[in-house]
Amino acid sequence: MGTPSRSSYVGRFAPSPTGSLHLGSLVAAVGSFVDARKAGGRWLVRMEDLDTARVVPGCSDEILRTLEAFGLCWDGEVEYQSRRTAAYAEALESLRARNLTFECSCSRRELTHNSDTGYLGTCRAGPTSRGPTATRFRIEASAMVDFEDRVQGTCRYELGALGDPIIRRRDGAFAYQLAVVVDDAAQSVSDIVRGADLLESTAWQLQIQQALRLPRPLYGHLPLVVESKRGKLAKSRRSLAIEPALASSQLSEALCLLRHNPPPEAQQAPPAVLLEWAIGQWNLDRFHGIREFVVGTQISLV
Ligand code: GLU
Repeated sequence: MGTPSRSSYVGRFAPSPTGSLHLGSLVAAVGSFVDARKAGGRWLVRMEDLDTARVVPGCSDEILRTLEAFGLCWDGEVEYQSRRTAAYAEALESLRARNLTFECSCSRRELTHNSDTGYLGTCRAGPTSRGPTATRFRIEASAMVDFEDRVQGTCRYELGALGDPIIRRRDGAFAYQLAVVVDDAAQSVSDIVRGADLLESTAWQLQIQQALRLPRPLYGHLPLVVESKRGKLAKSRRSLAIEPALASSQLSEALCLLRHNPPPEAQQAPPAVLLEWAIGQWNLDRFHGIREFVVGTQISLV
């Protein structure tokens, strides 16, 4: 499925400022940027900085400077989720008022025992122990969720197997699954292009969107960059930091992973030139149905 030209196209890149960008996040940024520009659309940047314990001071600015160095120029103001808690509180209230949430007292330890099966619904009828609670979105356990992903094709998930997602944590912080849905709608995002690690989460996000009566964007989940030893590159200690000084070669490497190999004479061209070239060539079909881009343990980005 290509990228149709649409003036209503709004794309976005939504990094969590918990560490420097790495090859996997660069691929997501480049894929969403090029797809948006190919469609003649806007491209927004949103900092997902709700998890204050994991946010690294100064990281948001560093990410923005890196995006600029790579020619990934966004439209409008950068949005920060930490400034949007009133909108999340309102959404949570609206779900709670319709009995679509419940309080859960299960500790992380209790839950890791069940990590293979998802959340088992222990507190669906009320918290089972005293103390602070998280809020979960009540899924319809027998429901199947279907969507047509622009990269991964037809996706179908059984919600019962995924369990009820946390939308407000025990420490009071709003959780990603709620915030992302509220923000994508508030920013009129029409097309979400991101890593395939979030494919499964999309099933929850579609349910939360529907419950909040928000429009459903189109989704395209790019193959995840993994080392040949397996494991998400982002989580690997050896994952390679993206260096503004190496912008042209690292951008070329990201485009090669996305099956758009710049011609040899263009590989050291300024980032803006490389991106223009990619926009001209862009075709999601080149990696249709691929779940992972496997890179060697010796990454050749120099
Ligand atoms: N903040 C998420 C991440 O850095 C991405 C969320 C999204 O694109 O929906 O993995």
